[in-house]
Amino acid sequence: MAKTVVILGGAFAGLHVAHALLKKRDAGLKVILVSKNSHFYWNIASVRAIVPGIYKDEEIFKPISEALSRYPETSYELVVGTAEAADFEAKTVSVTTASSSEPRSISYDQLLLATGSRTAVTGVPWKAAGSYEEAVALLHATAEKAEAASHIVVAGAGSTGVEVAGELGFAWGKTKEIVLLCAEDKLLGGDIVSSAAANELKKLNVRVEYGTRVEDTKPSESDAKKTDITVSSTEAKTITTDLYLPTFGLVPNSEFIDAKYLEDGARKGLVAVDEFLRVKDTTNVWAAGDLVSNPRAGFMITQKQAAAVAKNIELALAGKPPLAAKGMPVDILAVSTGRSRGAGRMGSFRMPSFGVWLAKGRQLGLNMFPSYLDGSVA
Ligand SMILES: Cc1cc2nc3c(=O)[nH]c(=O)nc-3n(C[C@H](O)[C@H](O)[C@H](O)COP(=O)(O)OP(=O)(O)OC[C@H]3O[C@@H](n4cnc5c(N)ncnc54)[C@H](O)[C@@H]3O)c2cc1C
Repeated sequence: MAKTVVILGGAFAGLHVAHALLKKRDAGLKVILVSKNSHFYWNIASVRAIVPGIYKDEEIFKPISEALSRYPETSYELVVGTAEAADFEAKTVSVTTASSSEPRSISYDQLLLATGSRTAVTGVPWKAAGSYEEAVALLHATAEKAEAASHIVVAGAGSTGVEVAGELGFAWGKTKEIVLLCAEDKLLGGDIVSSAAANELKKLNVRVEYGTRVEDTKPSESDAKKTDITVSSTEAKTITTDLYLPTFGLVPNSEFIDAKYLEDGARKGLVAVDEFLRVKDTTNVWAAGDLVSNPRAGFMITQKQAAAVAKNIELALAGKPPLAAKGMPVDILAVSTGRSRGAGRMGSFRMPSFGVWLAKGRQLGLNMFPSYLDGSVA
């Protein structure tokens, strides 16, 4: 009898698994991919896309329908909609779409949760929280504001914050004031490449304020287009800026999942999985990518997990036991700092700035985008 695999989320994890299953062309298999966003957003390039004129929209947003159109129409269905509820006992998910006022209930044999994460503070384009149209509009609006601003504050000095500050410094370090607020006394949570990243940002005229944590933000009293940022550092103070770009915090898109399948504490809201990436206490529900964030959120980690989950779904469909998912052989941190340099390491080996640029900063992974679309990555 035909089996149905439902995949929730159509980005790095979800599309990868869809390709892996569809490439096998098992005639008895139907893949239903549900994605809030009709397009796959290469959000890794968003840090540079906020500088106008560098990328065309169609370079960083690609239709999921085109990626799937290479498979027989009967083997898959793309549903542009939002998973609102999942019943792991009844093996159904409830999905709302723009074309219907009633939610659609979709039954599955195997389910993949790949709905990723969104930014903790809304209004920044680092992830696609809503539809394709909303994501494009937000990216354009941010780029326009960045171009018009004389003073920009980037808050949060993790990889995204350092990369955003680097891009702004590269584009406008000589003509605008670019400030990076770092809550700790080192960038990148004190990683061994923190001082290399700090040196790179200095060259780009980015001013880093260490030990400075954002406490509150509101439209400025002097000019509602500006933002007043209350920060705590050695003393509380207010910074008024033309553009405030928070980069800290990711929230898992897991509201539609029963809390008993989610983690608590520091990993609150992430999906709890076993060594097979199977959701704990289930037999046929799997999860991968930022929704799991183990050991952390990263697209290379996501890619590894997607490959493991695809294999395990295949095994489950064949009535065979799953295999343990293997992690990355070496932990890589590569942080782009503008369009010509970077800071990074492979394991504990520091990479030269040029090497980080070559491996990452030159294209911000866009060279890999075609393989996600044509399925060769899977
Ligand atoms: C600015 C930035 C730069 C980054 N750079 C790097 C990097 O250089 N290297 C690296 O390794 N990692 C990087 N990352 C991390 C990388 O982006 C993530 O690890 C990756 O996006 C995870 O992919 P995912 O498929 O799990 O989830 P996501 O990319 O979050 O995709 C989830 C998908 O699910 C959809 N969705 C959400 N909720 C629902 C729902 N209820 N129903 C249906 N669909 C839904 C969303 O619309 C989205 O399409 C970066 C992240 C950011 C923010």
